[in-house]
Amino acid sequence: MSTADELVEGIGAGDRRALARAITLAESTRADHRADADAVLAAVLGATGDAVRIGISGSPGVGKSTFIESFGLHVVGQGHRLAVLAVDPSSVRTGGSILGDKTRMSELSRHPDVFIRPSPGGTQLGGVARRTREAMLLCEAFGFDVIVVETIGVGQSEVAVADMVDLFCLLVAPGGGDELQGVKRGIMELADLVVVNKADGDLAAAAGRAQGDYTNALHLMRPKWQAWTAEVLACSALEGRGVREVWTEVERFVAAVGGSGASSELAGARARQAVAWMWSEVQDTLLDRLRGDPRVLAVVDDLEAEVADGRLAAAAAARQLLDTVDPR
Ligand code: GDP
Repeated sequence: MSTADELVEGIGAGDRRALARAITLAESTRADHRADADAVLAAVLGATGDAVRIGISGSPGVGKSTFIESFGLHVVGQGHRLAVLAVDPSSVRTGGSILGDKTRMSELSRHPDVFIRPSPGGTQLGGVARRTREAMLLCEAFGFDVIVVETIGVGQSEVAVADMVDLFCLLVAPGGGDELQGVKRGIMELADLVVVNKADGDLAAAAGRAQGDYTNALHLMRPKWQAWTAEVLACSALEGRGVREVWTEVERFVAAVGGSGASSELAGARARQAVAWMWSEVQDTLLDRLRGDPRVLAVVDDLEAEVADGRLAAAAAARQLLDTVDPR
């Protein structure tokens, strides 16, 4: 049996090692691994799409791992099966990830209905996001019906995550108006749900004020959905209060935007995401092929040197480079 067939069978049979291996294959940059990963994904595609896809973002220290642990335990307590994936832009530079780290969610990571996978390392955010998207589909095919994609709030990665999930949840900490200023408008626009964490003890009053501030700020944003207006909730992940309400809100969201099935707003959004993904695959693959093409390799060093020295304009060099493979 081919590797791909074996993994497809394993995933269908609920073998976690097969799932982990399939994700590793999708993360690999080797061409033969890529071909196997494509074959696995093609075979399982029909079994994907039944999960709720939730993006969770927030600055370091806001309480993401504490929240996901508490939220996740509630969700599996409701009979769901949960996969937690991570898109960590810092893994692009360091090769290591601080997100999706099992030690950060110790009780959740031991739960039999939970699968946690740290962010893949990569050279580009685009690559990390692409592999996480594939990991998400593999997890869905395996039978996980709630997928959480965690990311740190530094801009680009949030856009990448918002483009692969149904509901994008921004986790914030209580603070004065300054805190709110720190959240960029572009990120607020992505949010379907804002959760003010640490609404406990000394911070409870500030959390209440923050909830009001974020509600006002959201009113100024252009709505993403016809059937859903972004909401602001408060919770204490540490004490576990307000966390089940977040899940109730997720269920309300799914009922609102996904209610009418194949013709729903959600189905439309997923279709647009899939097409956008196709084009980003075209872009990445084209670039990979171009960089590896012998005709490009024959001229690239000279062209780079000329551009670096200021002897040749970047745009002219780019065209010369493309002309070596596609003269017109
Ligand atoms: P992350 O970096 O966003 O994953 O944040 P962590 O989950 O690691 O939490 C950062 C710190 O905030 C830790 O010391 C947590 O114990 C604390 N923390 C997280 N959630 C809460 C909360 O609801 N209330 C309070 N008071 N502290 C919290």
